[in-house]
Amino acid sequence: MQDNAHTTDVAIIGAGPVGLFAVFECGMLDMKCHVFDALDMAGGQCAALYPEKPIYDIPGYPRIDAALLVDRLAEQAEPFAPTYHFGHSVTGLERTADGFVVNNAAGERVAARAVVIAAGGGAFGPNRPPIPGIEAFEGKSVFYLVRRREDFRGKRVVIAGGGDSAVDWALSLAELAAHVMVVHRRPKFRAAPQSQAQLEALAKEGRVELVIPFQLAALEGTDGKLGAVVVADLAGNERRLEADCLLPFFGLATELGPLAQWDLTFDDNRIAVDPASCATSRPGIFAIGDIAAYPGKLKLILTGFAEAAAAAHAIHPLVHPGEALHFEYSTTKGVPGS
Ligand SMILES: Cc1cc2nc3c(=O)[nH]c(=O)nc-3n(C[C@H](O)[C@H](O)[C@H](O)COP(=O)(O)OP(=O)(O)OC[C@H]3O[C@@H](n4cnc5c(N)ncnc54)[C@H](O)[C@@H]3O)c2cc1C
Repeated sequence: MQDNAHTTDVAIIGAGPVGLFAVFECGMLDMKCHVFDALDMAGGQCAALYPEKPIYDIPGYPRIDAALLVDRLAEQAEPFAPTYHFGHSVTGLERTADGFVVNNAAGERVAARAVVIAAGGGAFGPNRPPIPGIEAFEGKSVFYLVRRREDFRGKRVVIAGGGDSAVDWALSLAELAAHVMVVHRRPKFRAAPQSQAQLEALAKEGRVELVIPFQLAALEGTDGKLGAVVVADLAGNERRLEADCLLPFFGLATELGPLAQWDLTFDDNRIAVDPASCATSRPGIFAIGDIAAYPGKLKLILTGFAEAAAAAHAIHPLVHPGEALHFEYSTTKGVPGS
């Protein structure tokens, strides 16, 4: 078998909170999973949009930061040894004699008995600033998401953008970076007024430099290592900001992409499912979490968790045909290594 061809029981599209919990629920029913995500990390919206925000409606956690919830879900899935395929969108789905083959943009192919679509609002991808040659710096000194703030300790960081992410990360990184510069095209930010006031206070103290009204124009550096970010104002005046990293925060776009062409029944851009099983209109394909639609659906993480359990039970006979499924509590069954 080629290195990029795999076989498993269940292919899960989306490693958001709901996709991660589906690994656990499938694992409890002796089903192995491969999980795909366009992002280069797990967590979906929790990781990409609000990692440091507290969530208050996860049962058993009166308050938990979104990033920590993702870590806990990954830890809960770990005994079932999922394989993750990060950093590339799922682009294709083929029906085979005994299931499906799912493949991503990197050419990885996973044959599975069943497919679970936990794709939220669609594949996440950054809104890239139109700077020639930026791709060469991506992942080395240009980052569209902050995975670990510690990575920026002692660095000279340029943050571009005027929304919550730009302002919140400027405040956060000012505590440990060598120098933080915020490039924005106008004095008014689109962030929470309290955060903007904090940013302006830091700027007065000289702990953050506001580079306004400027826009990104060019990058200087070699082999993906940034040396400087060139910015320009509308009159064409340029400034050269010496920097180690650039964080462009112009939002993340979501794209339903090829899923929309998979002959599934859609209900207002979401996949219509039977709420008892999360089965879609195509046998063997299930949808859970934000992407799944049925009357009365609440787009909440806790709803998605219950859907993951329902889907796993519905998938069991496809993976283990003829095997009776006796409903068991986790307290009775335990998990591997427990
Ligand atoms: C600011 C904010 C605050 C929130 N607060 C709360 C809260 O307090 N409580 C609560 O319950 N909910 C909250 N939510 C909503 C919650 O985050 C979502 O309900 C939850 O993330 C849905 O999980 P999911 O796994 O279904 O989808 P997502 O988290 O959207 O994850 C889907 C993943 O699928 C991937 N994907 C999609 N298509 C493809 C493809 N073709 N190929 C590869 N990967 C793909 C995406 O890249 C993404 O990572 C909040 C949302 C936001 C934005």
